[in-house]
Amino acid sequence: MQFKDVLVSQKLKEQLLSQVHEHRISHAQFFLAQPGSHAFALAVALAQYLCCEHPSDTDSCGTCPSCIQFSKLSHPDLHIYFPNCTTKTIKKDPDSIQLAQEFKDYVIENQYHIDMQDWLTVLQGENKQPSINIRDCSHIINQNSMRSYMGGYKTYILWSVDRLHHAAAPKLLKTLEEPDGKSLFILISEKPDQILSTILSRTQLVKIPKLTDEELQTALQEAIPEMDAATARDITAIADGDYNKALQIYRNNAEQRDMIDTFDAMMTSIVAFAHQRPAGEINYAHVQELFGDIVSQGREKQKAFVNIILRMLRNLLMQNAGANALVKVTDQESGILSTFRDLNLKHITKMTEECNKAMYHIGRNGNTAIILTDLYFKMAGCLADK
Ligand SMILES: [Zn+2]
Repeated sequence: MQFKDVLVSQKLKEQLLSQVHEHRISHAQFFLAQPGSHAFALAVALAQYLCCEHPSDTDSCGTCPSCIQFSKLSHPDLHIYFPNCTTKTIKKDPDSIQLAQEFKDYVIENQYHIDMQDWLTVLQGENKQPSINIRDCSHIINQNSMRSYMGGYKTYILWSVDRLHHAAAPKLLKTLEEPDGKSLFILISEKPDQILSTILSRTQLVKIPKLTDEELQTALQEAIPEMDAATARDITAIADGDYNKALQIYRNNAEQRDMIDTFDAMMTSIVAFAHQRPAGEINYAHVQELFGDIVSQGREKQKAFVNIILRMLRNLLMQNAGANALVKVTDQESGILSTFRDLNLKHITKMTEECNKAMYHIGRNGNTAIILTDLYFKMAGCLADK
């Protein structure tokens, strides 16, 4: 991770760089992060800069052997600790070292935009209380007593240090106060009130502010080139400087739009099929293709899809009954609904009943491919009645 790719203000980067240039780098720093800020990336960028073989005044080179190792988070003098718990593969005595590869993969896959809730999902530890535990602290202390592998700085990043187990924390105090040799400890957290004051008092505070709306909007458009300016502006307005939240809103929107598109394709196909009866041929492959994406996802997504059909049918009912003031849809949805003006109230009511039955069966763990295919033909059947 180079400074140029870290999403924080230029001023903050310069502040850290000047510490390095003036040889007054504090050996224990507390990065007080705002939710969704790029604090972990900043910590790695600083460590990488300190170890780079050809740094410029403003950044690491990105190409020397040390930088290459940093890009994989595999530099031998970079030590990362994070909340951990037992998992499917680690049944007993978990620690950060055993889960290191999972964590590194998670960080790199998400371009360093990491979040405790997401990490819990990766760990599949939603109902657990992951912590940086006493074994982690022992590793840190032992490790710190050894020499650096490459002769330069040893960096210890403790991510989400608010989850440092309180019984384990006192073990670290001496190391934080008098670390061995050229050591840099970077403690990261969004929740300073949950950290022991004895730990905080041994660190220098670095505040990582949230992104301004302008910075967030630019970052979103760079990360997702297909996002248009209007969408980026809308999302930025809601996300409050939190990059992770912005991304979540975007993904949910995209998923929603995909499902609406599937609804459109399904209804168009149902109407066409109903009109060609009884001569029409039943094309099962086509119907299965329609629902392929939905079926491949989890049950919650399938329920969400049927809920979208129900919501669209309700709006269609209002539209076709002339109650336009009660139609609550986006522009995209309104365009779709207008193509189904011919459906009468009886058709729509019957279709709604079929959707409710499908929802019931999905909830009872029925085979979704069969349930949705069946729903398709039942809905087409509803149109057969005059
Ligand atoms: Zn380098």
